[in-house]
Amino acid sequence: MRSHADTSSQEGSSDPHRGHAVCLGRGDQMEHDRHALSVGYLLPAKDGRRTGSAGGVPHSRPMSTARSPHLVSRLQGFGTTVFAEVTALARQYDAVNLGQGAPDFDGPDFIKEAAIEAIRRGDNQYCRMFGEPTLNSAIAEHQRRFYDLDYDPDREITVYAGATEAIFATLAALCETGDEVVMFEPFYDSYRACLAMAGARERVVTLEAPSFSYEPETLERAINPRTRAILLNTPHNPTGKVFTRAELEHIAMLCCKHDILAISDEVYEHLVFEGEHVCLASLPGMRDRTIVISSAGKTFSFTGWKIGHTCAPEPITRALRTAHQFVTYCNGTPFQHAIAAGYRADDAYYETFLEEYRERRDRLCRGLARVGFGVLEPAGTYFVLTDIRPLGYQDDVEFCRMLPEKVGVAAIPPSSFYVNKEAGRHLVRWAFCKTLPMIDEAIRRLEGLGS
Ligand code: PMP
Ligand code: GLN
Repeated sequence: MRSHADTSSQEGSSDPHRGHAVCLGRGDQMEHDRHALSVGYLLPAKDGRRTGSAGGVPHSRPMSTARSPHLVSRLQGFGTTVFAEVTALARQYDAVNLGQGAPDFDGPDFIKEAAIEAIRRGDNQYCRMFGEPTLNSAIAEHQRRFYDLDYDPDREITVYAGATEAIFATLAALCETGDEVVMFEPFYDSYRACLAMAGARERVVTLEAPSFSYEPETLERAINPRTRAILLNTPHNPTGKVFTRAELEHIAMLCCKHDILAISDEVYEHLVFEGEHVCLASLPGMRDRTIVISSAGKTFSFTGWKIGHTCAPEPITRALRTAHQFVTYCNGTPFQHAIAAGYRADDAYYETFLEEYRERRDRLCRGLARVGFGVLEPAGTYFVLTDIRPLGYQDDVEFCRMLPEKVGVAAIPPSSFYVNKEAGRHLVRWAFCKTLPMIDEAIRRLEGLGS
């Protein structure tokens, strides 16, 4: 496990803890600009130069250090998300898009019908600020059914415009300027931007490829008196790691010992192929200090409906709602009715959902291995990371820029999910929330990579 003592010196921090984990924040903003998350990674720079090392231009990363006019300093450097960039490239070259995690199929008909019925019935106006009552109740039933956790649907469950808004509202409501949040890299890209908007700082512990493990001591050393929370994501995007019960028990112990909160992004809770999904809040001492975040977009394959939620103890929920009410207030009334039907689906729905994804995972992993990638088979989520070095490539950004044009397939460069970008430079993320014919077509195209 790398402690980052080597990289933290670049961060301009005079922090006594910096030998243990990278910490960035407000005061480090200009430095942050130079470590930008997704600044025009794939698109041409404004002056016409291509970003990356394509065309013999020496690789320089990140690609832009220019200040964006009008943009506040705390958001300088965030540029355009890698998902928007890759999707634009995929469209430009009519590529099979294994980049953004959006299914190329719809969720079940009974949920669609429930939405249509709600629209016809006239459930089309603002709903209750913290969620349509039937959805809050369905989420409470789901938490009891799968995790044996009791939440009061009216006082402890809140519905948002996707997990994305839930993450934003959570960090905006709970973090003071200068607070620190410990998180693992690679991390879902919105975490860092939301922390920046909250004026908080991240302290990053690296999940090291290929096992994506970490030293427990490194995690503990990342905690200090300014730490407000540990933010984790299990099952984990983009590695497919499912945190083990032992890892989560250790995280729980640290949260209790240091009296800090846990923010647990569990949007892929029903996509676990190996091992078990442990809801962090179900561990001893954790229910009262954990904010569980999830998304109906993943569980029911309606990412465009943007329905997400939090489960958290009442005093924390009150804080979250103070932020949420001024961000969206509420979202997608008819869809909330429909998703309530989803969460109440019988076991057969959840089992079939998982088995269909297992088949997609196996099909894509086998195909990528046949093409020659080093496949890091995921235990969960609908993403797989591959090592591109066996095919002679070294740089994820360069590879993902070339791919749509060269073979008509799009994928995500995961270094955009790292502070320490070198740790992810040899990896590429592929999404398998796609129909089998689409996966087969992607593999057929990728077989042309060598030519
Ligand atoms: N967290 C993780 C780990 C994700 O991968 C995503 C997006 N797919 C989200 C949160 C956001 O979910 P939503 O689409 O519901 O906003
Ligand atoms: N979470 C999705 C992914 O990881 C993307 C969501 C988005 O485009 N913001 O692919």
